[in-house]
Amino acid sequence: MKHRIVVIGAGFAGLQLVKKLRGANCDITLIDRRNHHLFQPLLYQVATAILPTADIAWPIRRILDDRKDVTTLLATVTGVDRTTRDVILRHGERVPYDTLVVATGAAHAYFGNDEWEADAPGLKTLEDATTIRRRVLLAFERAELESDEATRTAELTFAVVGAGPTGVELAGIIADLAHRVLPGEFRRIDTKTARVLLVEAGPRILPAFSENLSAYAKRALERLGVEVLTGEAVTNVSSSDIALGERRIPTRTVIWAAGVEASPAGQWLEAETDKAGRVKVSPFLTLPDDESIFVLGDTAATVDAHGKPVPGIAPAAKQQGSYVTRTIRARLTGKPVPGPFRYRHLGNLATIGPNAAVIELGRFRLKGRLAWWVWGVAHIYFLVSARSRLVVTLNWLWNFVSGQNSARLITQKETLRDD
Ligand SMILES: Cc1cc2nc3c(=O)[nH]c(=O)nc-3n(C[C@H](O)[C@H](O)[C@H](O)COP(=O)(O)OP(=O)(O)OC[C@H]3O[C@@H](n4cnc5c(N)ncnc54)[C@H](O)[C@@H]3O)c2cc1C
Repeated sequence: MKHRIVVIGAGFAGLQLVKKLRGANCDITLIDRRNHHLFQPLLYQVATAILPTADIAWPIRRILDDRKDVTTLLATVTGVDRTTRDVILRHGERVPYDTLVVATGAAHAYFGNDEWEADAPGLKTLEDATTIRRRVLLAFERAELESDEATRTAELTFAVVGAGPTGVELAGIIADLAHRVLPGEFRRIDTKTARVLLVEAGPRILPAFSENLSAYAKRALERLGVEVLTGEAVTNVSSSDIALGERRIPTRTVIWAAGVEASPAGQWLEAETDKAGRVKVSPFLTLPDDESIFVLGDTAATVDAHGKPVPGIAPAAKQQGSYVTRTIRARLTGKPVPGPFRYRHLGNLATIGPNAAVIELGRFRLKGRLAWWVWGVAHIYFLVSARSRLVVTLNWLWNFVSGQNSARLITQKETLRDD
């Protein structure tokens, strides 16, 4: 019988690993609870009606259709039995492994206030993105129907919590939607009066970037009409307002981009985790007490050569996927395994509105419109299929020329006012 490798999660880390194991002498089972691989860096563009869902997600079966060595299972993993070496699926089925790779990513963290989630959805999946898109677009529709001024103002107030790249990207595009894209289409309201708040508990936005670029991003957001509130912690969220300490701001649309928490893999594996629930792995990305189990990507707590935590970003997950492939191949062929994992940081990128970005690649820094194009080319390059590269490029060009966000559809039922 061939060596059985079970990979949980077809995100950046898991898919990279499976792709790179092509031709290795083993049987691979890839399990994911979704049928698609998702390019999360462009999720905010689905949430803000720039791109349709199919442009940033691809069926896993299709990606791996020529890989006879890979069996894909659409299933949710709920546990791992380390004694019998089985992965346990939701309905109790077991999938046996010789080597297990856990790459189940992360979820939103509400810092102990999980009840806020219903009124402040986060952005992690395609469903999240279409929920946010629906809520943002519906808020304008409800405002158009509303005769009470205070309620209309609340409908036209959007709060994004957390000013990392995702929060900055969402706030910039929502402001652009309100101030540039929509005004000509509504008759009863002036969408330019909409308030877009970006709330950040820390002292500045984009804390992973240099102070210079962070200050530039703040100015650029303010030019788009975003109110940037730094040093303000959210103390409550409800369906009618958001509280910042004593201050309550009436709003119907709050979006959560403030924190992440690793998947519960640490509990399945009964492994030691850090505060964010990430599994503490060895320098070889295995469990410290079990070399047959690897944990990668956003689910793992790892450090770089300087002892700094490896960030939860796509290049780190992909590098880890490639690294573990080399280890598995070496083990299968009896060759020496590679030394400890070394993370190579390629840089930080974030967009601000429809035509500006900030980029930091080591000492190289770029901002403004040119940075946006560099950001765009980099993201197009990393999309999974040639079709997506073409379609996303055309979509962006069309939006650029027409000044429109072309995916402005409200789908799935949600109350308008008196439905
Ligand atoms: C909105 C957003 C924007 C981002 N922007 C950027 C960016 O611009 N640049 C960048 O580098 N990074 C960005 N990131 C971070 C980047 O996407 C993550 O670091 C990366 O996806 C981590 O890869 P991963 O393989 O660890 O997890 P993921 O890519 O999240 O994959 C995890 C997979 O595991 C599956 N899974 C989870 N639980 C189970 C289960 N119980 N059973 C079965 N399957 C399961 C999921 O369905 C998913 O397919 C962004 C993330 C988000 C959410």
